[in-house]
Amino acid sequence: MIPYLPEAFTDFSKPENEAAFTAAFERVSSQMGQSYPLIIGGREVHTDKRNESRNPSNLEQIVGFVAQADKAIVDEAFQIASKKFTTWSQVSPEERAGYLFKSAAIIRRRKHEFSSWLLLEAGKTRAEADADTAECIDFLEYYGRQMLQLSERGKQTLISYPGEENRLEYIPLGVGVVIPPWNFPLAIMAGMTAAAIVSGNTVLLKPASQTPVIAYRFYEVLKEAGLPDGVVNFVPGDVGEIGDYMVDHTTTRFVTFTGSRGIGVRIYERASKVHEGQIWLKRIIAEMGGKDSIIVDEGADLDLAALNIVNSAFMFSGQKCSACSRVIAHEAIYNELLDRVVERTRALTIGDAINANTKVGPVIDQKAYDKIRSYIEIGKQEGRLVCGGETWDKPGYFVSPTIFADVPADARLSKEEIFGPVVAFTKVKTFTDAIAAANNTEFGLTGSVFTKNREHVEEARRTFHVGNLYFNRKSTGALVGVHPFGGFNMSGTDSKAGGPDYLLLFTQPKLSSEVL
Ligand code: GLU
Repeated sequence: MIPYLPEAFTDFSKPENEAAFTAAFERVSSQMGQSYPLIIGGREVHTDKRNESRNPSNLEQIVGFVAQADKAIVDEAFQIASKKFTTWSQVSPEERAGYLFKSAAIIRRRKHEFSSWLLLEAGKTRAEADADTAECIDFLEYYGRQMLQLSERGKQTLISYPGEENRLEYIPLGVGVVIPPWNFPLAIMAGMTAAAIVSGNTVLLKPASQTPVIAYRFYEVLKEAGLPDGVVNFVPGDVGEIGDYMVDHTTTRFVTFTGSRGIGVRIYERASKVHEGQIWLKRIIAEMGGKDSIIVDEGADLDLAALNIVNSAFMFSGQKCSACSRVIAHEAIYNELLDRVVERTRALTIGDAINANTKVGPVIDQKAYDKIRSYIEIGKQEGRLVCGGETWDKPGYFVSPTIFADVPADARLSKEEIFGPVVAFTKVKTFTDAIAAANNTEFGLTGSVFTKNREHVEEARRTFHVGNLYFNRKSTGALVGVHPFGGFNMSGTDSKAGGPDYLLLFTQPKLSSEVL
């Protein structure tokens, strides 16, 4: 088998790539406004109640109408997934991995179509959409290979004992609930689903209500790849109506969730309750928020730092849990760095994600737009607005990249997750103070340090408490298999998606020992 290597990003400066993207975009645009059913055990279910998925760049445009499950349909999906588990869990790891490799190949061939859906449903720019699609392919390729390795691992790791044959097998858990986010609606949604099923589990996939169409398109790929009916059940629905119900259900063996701190904690609490008839403790895999800092040291390359701050803070409008929302800079270079970041930020083009030259598209929905606006008001009290601060809600939800200077390290802007294009600058006197300021949140996801000082590199390695620590590079853009992703404290269970231990979370090791 070809060794895993992350998928290359598309070079849109090449005319042939540009033309291929435009053709795919036209094909996808002609499919806007269609209706999508639920899929339970391979059966399409249309419901009276439907969710309208809209383009956040242009709210008049409906991406699709998506059926909405109620509790009775969820019950049926659990029954089918449970029944299917008895056979799917016995399918060989090779066969299970094969469905992922085939799906990766299908998506690779149609990659610009998937990116076009991301552009229209999530408001991603071309480059951001292309990276999301590439990451989706990576998860499929990587977890397929990881499953093959895991099935070999038990045989190799045990100490041999005379007269016995001992085996450790990583068997699946059961029926899982997959609750992915809207911000990587293809990559993370596909990664969470693929990890669960390649490990031998069956799932109910409840896509984010902002991005259900892209999830449906992924389901279609699994179907085309020949995945048996009932392994993945596509169950979009109103979170208020079915969210708790799915988590509480006695059939649920595990919940894998990526999203906000608030919902993650709610799932964690609810899942800890053992209900009548439940014969296991539910497992929770949760990736939650971040409040990620970039530290810039005295003597650092300021141009490199400025470029990476702008990319980390403002690409996809800062709607990544890895996004930089704080810059903590040494007083000796603070003003110079701020000027360079402001200059680069002012040069960003904001607008409809459809335009090839747009660098910053819309934010996802009204709720996000209102929340970000309220933090801009808070920022005006806590710091000095030096750039941006404008918002407009027509034809989509646009927020200009916003920078506040001179924000105290313990301000709300320094501690609370905003999930938008807002960054706070804080001045410090020493490198140690910079790390203390960065650690002063309840999160611990990503952090970057720009420094040329080796002692400071080692100090940060020891004391900067984040799951993903980067030096002299951006805080976003972890690559599958290269930078396993996940964080500490309220950032979640540090599950390290895209890493060598991830599939362990979807399995349970079983020892068998035979006296010969
Ligand atoms: N893995 C992504 C990155 O490294 C972020 C994932 C997220 O926002 O949930 O940028």
